[in-house]
Amino acid sequence: TTSSHSSHHDVHFNVGGKVPLGLKKKGLRILVTGGAGFVGSHLVDRLIERGDTVIVVDNFFTGRKDNLVQHFGSPRFELIRHDVVEPILLEVDQIYHLACPASPVHYKYNPTNVVGTMNMLGLAKRVGARFLVTSTSEVYGDPLQHPQVETYWGNVNPIGVRSCYDEGKRTAETLTMDYHRGHGIEVRIARIFNTYGPRMCIDDGRVVSNFVAQALRKEPLTVYGDGKQTRSFQYVSDLVEGLIRLMEGDHVGPFNLGNPSEFTMLELAQVVQETIDPYAKIEFRPNTEDDPHKRKPDITKARELLGWHPTVSLSNGLPLMVEDFRQRIFGDKKESVG
Ligand code: NAD
Ligand code: UDP
Repeated sequence: TTSSHSSHHDVHFNVGGKVPLGLKKKGLRILVTGGAGFVGSHLVDRLIERGDTVIVVDNFFTGRKDNLVQHFGSPRFELIRHDVVEPILLEVDQIYHLACPASPVHYKYNPTNVVGTMNMLGLAKRVGARFLVTSTSEVYGDPLQHPQVETYWGNVNPIGVRSCYDEGKRTAETLTMDYHRGHGIEVRIARIFNTYGPRMCIDDGRVVSNFVAQALRKEPLTVYGDGKQTRSFQYVSDLVEGLIRLMEGDHVGPFNLGNPSEFTMLELAQVVQETIDPYAKIEFRPNTEDDPHKRKPDITKARELLGWHPTVSLSNGLPLMVEDFRQRIFGDKKESVG
């Protein structure tokens, strides 16, 4: 909030960059790839609010124009339909690289994480922009250390059904560090843990969106496996605050950004019942292959170096997404794909 806003003016524009400086005292020019998606659109809201100029590049694979309509009239906002697997020429000061098919039902579809990340790093190099990549807790695989610290190298199956995502993000981190070391570009790496909130894709198969949509539709909550596997759920505003602090701060990372309160899937189902429908039934289904058993971030590093920690608990955050889901599922507003 205020601290990230004030530090924002201390940022050196285009350090090592080739774009003429001194143009702007007020806001930065910021590229958000994947900005029409769930996390990206909330990030764009914050950046526009604090006075920056934002360019969103999105191919609407899972993102929606609806998530950004509130900015359509603004001269400080631009939306470009583009697939980051193809290069693009833009002049910007910072790049938040979020574009990625991010949920299990989508992410096997394309090589965004490798080719897209390379293109955006190339763009950062050409214009001297600071580059933030949104990696994931999945880089830890099915972790053998608990909770996960950034120094842990992970336990990833390289040939499993989810490996294109895990290994794609690991490669994205590798490329990011190589461009940093080899070309001197300024980079930031965020490892994001499970995040939920309004504008999440309704039918992307992630557990929070599944349970909330199922409870609203009076369908049983589908718990995979025995439901004793754990995740730690972070509300989207906490994540956005963390991403901005990371971008504006002095540290490359990687940083875990997640909420350390850990829940089993059965406990999550219970919170959903308490929030939406105490009579919602639970139905057990076979679990997916390579499902991580436990996941919980150690956020000591982000606390100490970014002064960041999550503030919204699951029981406070969940009701905030329920209203949005209710409107999108039952409201007149039809879901548009972009
Ligand atoms: P999302 O699917 O809502 O957003 C991703 C956006 O990227 C969408 O708007 C999609 O249309 C766009 N996109 C996908 N492929 C593209 C391409 N080739 N070119 C241009 N645009 C493309 O997902 P999200 O939850 O908002 O995730 C944002 C980022 O955060 C992703 O990189 C994801 O891997 C990472 N992340 C999210 C979570 C989470 O729990 N939400 C956890 C870990 C990491
Ligand atoms: N899950 C579940 N029911 C569902 C969807 C998912 O029990 O309807 C479980 C899934 O097996 C996993 C956890 O919820 O253990 C989190 O899954 P998600 O796909 O949301 O995130 P990720 O596995 O990527 O952390």
